[in-house]
Formats: sequence, structure tokens, C-alpha cells
Amino acid sequence: MTSRGYVSQDVVVRFAPSPNGLLHLGHAYAACTAYDYARERNGKLLLRIEDIDGVRSKPEFVEAILADLRWLRLDWDGAIIFQSERLDSYAKAAERLKQLDLLYPCFCSRSDMRAVHKKEGPREGPDGPIYPGTCRKLDPGQADARRKLEPHSWRLDVKKALQLTDDLIWHDEKIGDQQADPAALGDVVLIPKDMPVSYHLAVTLDDARDGITHIVRGADLFASTHIHRLLQALLDLPVPRYFHHPVLLDQTGNKLAKSRESASLAVLRKKGIDGNDLANRLRKNIFPVGITLAKD
Ligand code: GLU
Repeated sequence: MTSRGYVSQDVVVRFAPSPNGLLHLGHAYAACTAYDYARERNGKLLLRIEDIDGVRSKPEFVEAILADLRWLRLDWDGAIIFQSERLDSYAKAAERLKQLDLLYPCFCSRSDMRAVHKKEGPREGPDGPIYPGTCRKLDPGQADARRKLEPHSWRLDVKKALQLTDDLIWHDEKIGDQQADPAALGDVVLIPKDMPVSYHLAVTLDDARDGITHIVRGADLFASTHIHRLLQALLDLPVPRYFHHPVLLDQTGNKLAKSRESASLAVLRKKGIDGNDLANRLRKNIFPVGITLAKD
């Protein structure tokens, strides 16, 4: 038992923002949803800063996240977790997948991809155009030689990976059991050219390492769960339950984006708006003019 009175097998939820910009109302809604989910079940809420992007992640955004959460009166349990302190564990897992011959180097640049998509037309996946598998078809000897000279990412050979796994089921609290369909995202990058690890690999490993029992996050990440479920099977990780909440939309019907500073929580906070009131309004689905909740 800890000071809050939970026991280890209780609900453990996380809020996992990326400090590459200022948080907006959509993040506040996500944080309140995760916080309430945990607290209503007498569970823990962990705070994990997803700062694997060494270029876009900035300490000032971490500071702003902490100030925003305090302003919204959302507290968390234990020490703050930083993904940038866990790079060794991601590299180890990637190595394991390489040993299983499930990763292949990809040399395609953005313009190579654009050219293929122009010629063949992109197959659209939930994350954008699906990778056409160009480098999967390279002769292994040739790929090895190029690898020593050219910048490359590492992609998961999803078809091959699926041959090593059985039925991949995961449970969504809103819509029930789901059969994972990782092919819908194509051969995702697990080690980008310019980053130590991709979101998909880091988040899957960390949710297991942090003992997350319930992943509460936006429905925009629903499709990613298919890939995460596959990675769980390949790396022998436990399978948490999932709750994908609807995301907030702007006037144009698009998901709120981090790019508009004017719409940030930091601006509202500095204007002297009461964060607790704002959190309570979000909980009742009362949003500022022009902001709506997506249908799914
Ligand atoms: N770090 C991700 C983001 O800020 C969220 C990760 C997750 O909830 O799985 O969008």
C-alpha cells in the first residue's frame, strides 16, 4: 500500500505528453480524462515526458507542461519519467527484433517516397501514406553495404512479424475486443534516421515497464494500438486495456494542433483564467466557442 491507499495490482494510468510545443485544450481534455479515470478507480496516474525527439523537445516545454498540470489541479504519482533517460532499453529491444530478422534498413528519403506515391498513388493509412516496402525488397548483401555508408531508418517487416504471432486481440473499453490489424499502418519505422527510437517502440516498451494497466488516450492513436499490440507479442510484454477518448476539434473540424501558440494553455494560464474551473468545464463537455468533441 502507498500513501494514497492503492495496491500494486490496481489501476495504473499515464499521461504522456511530448514536450515539443505548448499544450492546448485537447491536451487538457486528455489529461483530465486520464486523471479522472485513475482517481475514480483509486488508481495511480503517472506522468511520462515523451522527449525522444532530441531536436524538437525543449526544457521550456517540459516546464510549461508541469505548470499547466498544476494549474489544472491535476497531480501525478511518483517521480516524473523521462523517455530520454531510457534510450538504452529501446536500443536493446530494437536489437532483439533485429536478431529475429524483423527489422530492415530503409534508405528512402521523403522525396523518394513522394516519387513512388506520385507514380503508384499512395495507399493511405491512418498515419498518412503507407510505406510501399521499397527497401524490404533490397538484396540483403546490398542493403548491408549501403547501411555502412548511407543514413537509414529501421522498419518493422510487419508481414514477417505476423507469421511469428498468434491471434492478436486487445480490448478497448468503449467498443470491446479488437483483432489487431497492424498491416493497416504498413511497415512502420521503429528507429528513425534522426532519432534514437520511434514513438511506437518507446511507448510500447514504457507502458510495460511502468506497469500501465489502462492506456487512456485520444482516439487519434487508436490505429497505433494495432502496431503496439504486435510489438507486445514480439517482445513478450503484457497487454494493457485501452480507453480511447474522443479528441477536440477546431472550427474547421480538424484536431487541435500544437502550432498555434495563441490557443495554448500557457496563454490561458497567464491571462489569469482559473485552471480548476476550466478542467471542470472540460469534464462537463463545455468548450469555448468553435471547439467541439469529435463523434468517435
Ligand atoms: N506522446 C504522445 C503525444 O503527445 C502520446 C502518447 C500516448 O498517449 O500513447 O501525442
